[in-house]
Amino acid sequence: MKPLTFLRLAALAALATTAAACGGGSDESGDSRTVTVYTGRHYGIEPVFDAFTASTGIEVRFTAGSDPELRERLVAEGDNTPADLVMTADAANIELAAAAGLLAPVESKKLNDAIPEELRSAKNEWFALSRRLRVVMYSTERVTEPPSTYAALGDERWSGKLCLRPSTHPYTQSLVASMILNLGADKARAIVDSWVANKPLYINSDTDILKAIAAGDCDVALANSYYLARLLAEEPATPVAISWPEQDGTGAHVNVSTAGITAAASNPDEAIELLEWLATEGQKTFSDANFEYPADPDVAPADVLVSFGEFRADLAAVRELGRLNPDAVELLSRAGYE
Ligand code: FE
Repeated sequence: MKPLTFLRLAALAALATTAAACGGGSDESGDSRTVTVYTGRHYGIEPVFDAFTASTGIEVRFTAGSDPELRERLVAEGDNTPADLVMTADAANIELAAAAGLLAPVESKKLNDAIPEELRSAKNEWFALSRRLRVVMYSTERVTEPPSTYAALGDERWSGKLCLRPSTHPYTQSLVASMILNLGADKARAIVDSWVANKPLYINSDTDILKAIAAGDCDVALANSYYLARLLAEEPATPVAISWPEQDGTGAHVNVSTAGITAAASNPDEAIELLEWLATEGQKTFSDANFEYPADPDVAPADVLVSFGEFRADLAAVRELGRLNPDAVELLSRAGYE
């Protein structure tokens, strides 16, 4: 990796004198423009990058991993990271990366016009590209009155019938962080205690959680909206449905797929171009690739999402998920949530 990085830095230094004339990242010898991405969002990402390359001629090199893995890698690589753009499947990890000084603020009218304020960091260090809801899922064969709040999953009628993702997963941590924000730590703890008292079946895959409902291993669960959309696309008869939680209150928990430019980017111009494309021309391609709701409210969601109906979403918590992540991790641990 190092020789490559040095080559790029040398190319960038050579460019500096002629940057005004060039206006881009390609050098005068005609080398192709590239951007390197670390991505925590995997599903369907390659066709999205291909569409960007077809539109702009910029080649995308990418490395996939989990959000926390990629953040640790950025820390370890420091100024030598090959990553120009980092993409996550969770708001907390990108905010923690920003807090660690790993991201560069971006001033872009295109981004500010496309992405609502509550879906980008206060310092414009990251931007949400799509929204996902962590919602109550239930068996349409065995459940007639599904829970309508996160707290209701702690009702004893769900004892032994509840499936949850483990506490190590960012999706669980961000949901609990939003509960701490909205309800206070004591009430959030009481809810998590009630889930744990129901002896949940912990499954570290939302797809497997939905399959467990279909198979009768649990009746109710928490999972992200797009996993049901994907499962229904493959298996339309899957007997699982969404119960939108907190519709009389703060709304269903929102998490986001995000992207930000690394502070050490060797190809910042190409990275900004990719980020802006994902937020505008590529917004629908990016969102539809994983059945997520576009971050730009003016872009139409996929048909299957329209079929899920209208709902109230907790947009106000998104920017706070990183700050409250350590509190959520500690709460889950103290509650004995696996
Ligand atoms: Fe996911």
